[in-house]
Amino acid sequence: MKILVTGGAGYIGSHTTLALLEAGYEVVVLDNLCNSSDAALHAVEAICGKSARMIRGDVCDRALLDRIFREQRIDAVLHFAGLKAVGESVRKPLDYYENNVGGSITLCQAMAAAGVFRLVFSSSATVYGEPEQMPIREDFPTGIPTNPYGQSKLIVENVLRDLSQAEPRWRIALLRYFNPIGAHHSGHMGEDPNGIPNNLLPYISQVAVGSLPELSIFGDDYPTIDGTGVRDYIHVVDLADGHLKALQSIAERPGIHTWNLGTGDGYSVMQVLQAFEQASGRAVPYRVMPRRSGDIAESWADASKAAKELGWKATRSLQDMVTDTWRWQSNHPRGYLQ
Ligand code: NAD
Ligand code: UDP
Repeated sequence: MKILVTGGAGYIGSHTTLALLEAGYEVVVLDNLCNSSDAALHAVEAICGKSARMIRGDVCDRALLDRIFREQRIDAVLHFAGLKAVGESVRKPLDYYENNVGGSITLCQAMAAAGVFRLVFSSSATVYGEPEQMPIREDFPTGIPTNPYGQSKLIVENVLRDLSQAEPRWRIALLRYFNPIGAHHSGHMGEDPNGIPNNLLPYISQVAVGSLPELSIFGDDYPTIDGTGVRDYIHVVDLADGHLKALQSIAERPGIHTWNLGTGDGYSVMQVLQAFEQASGRAVPYRVMPRRSGDIAESWADASKAAKELGWKATRSLQDMVTDTWRWQSNHPRGYLQ
C-alpha cells in the first residue's frame, strides 16, 4: 500500500512515516518545510534503512496534488500538514484558515478527483473546549475553541463530517490527539520547534540544555493535585502506532470515526518537570507566572474507544517520554541542525 503523508517531515509526521516504512508501507511525503527540514526524513532512513519519497510542496497547491495522485497511485492519505502555534494563530488567523482549512479542502477535492477516499486527519483535544468532566469521551460535545488554530481543527472536522454524509465512499478517521511529547528511542528524531517553544516539554528540555534560562509555569492556582495544569501526555511513537491502527481500521469501516489518542492518565506541570529532572539529572529552574490565557485546568482522555475499536493502547510511561525527550535534546541541542 502506498500512503501519502502530508506534513511528513514534521514532528508527528516523521515518526509516523518511520512507523509506516517499518510496517512495510510505501510512503510519499508532501511537505513545504515551513516548520521542518528534510533532516527528519534522513534520520528516518538512517534508522530503518528505507526511505520515503519526499515532495517539497504545498497542500494548498491543487495542481501539484493532482500530479501526485496521477503519478503515485496513492491508496490513502495521512494528513498532518498544517500550522499549529496557538499564539501565532491569533495574530495571523488568515494563514491558519488558509493552510489548515483551505489545505484540507483542497486535499479532499484532489483525493475525490483521483478516487482516493481513505483519510486520517490530525485533530486535537482542543476541539472539546473546556469539558465539565474528566476523562473526555469522544461523544462529549465539542466546545468553542478560543483561538483560530482550535477553530481550524473543528471546522475541518465538520467539513469532513459533511463530506462523509454526502459521499459514502469516504472512510475518514478523526484522531484527536492529547499532548504528544517524547522522541524516537534512538535519540536521532524528535521535536524541533522553530524559535521559542510554546509547548511544555520542548521548553523544559531547552532550559535543561542551557538554551533558555528558566521555565515559566503558567499558574499554580488551578483546582488540581498541586495547582498546576494537568494534561494527558502521550509518547509520539505510541501516537504514530495509533495512526497505523486507524489506517487499518478504516479499510474495514466505511464512514467517519472519531478516536481519542491519549493514555488516559493526567499529569501536572510539576509532575512532568520532576520526572524530567529525574531522567536528565539536571535541575530545571522555573518561576511561577500567572495563568496563560485560554488554558484549561485539566484535560485527559478516555482512551477506551480506541482500545476497543482499534486494538490500540499507549504503552509508554511518562518516564519513557521524558527519558526519550532528553536523549534527543542532549544529542541534538540545536535540533536537526546538530
Ligand atoms: P509540525 O509543525 O512539526 O508538522 C507539520 C508539518 O506540516 C511541518 O513539517 C510543516 O512544514 C508542514 N506544513 C505546514 N503547512 C503546510 C502546507 N500548507 N503544505 C505542506 N506542508 C505543510 O507539527 P506536528 O506537531 O507534527 O503536528 C502535526 C499535525 O498534528 C498538525 O496538523 C497539528 O495541528 C496536529 N496536532 C499536533 C499536536 C501537537 O501538540 N504537536 C496536537 C494536536 C494536533
Ligand atoms: N505550560 C507551562 N509553561 C510553558 C508551557 C506550558 O506551564 O512554558 C503548561 C500549560 O499551562 C499547560 C501544560 O503546560 O498546563 C501543557 O501546555 P502545552 O502548551 O504543552 O499544551 P496544551 O495542553 O496547552 O496544548
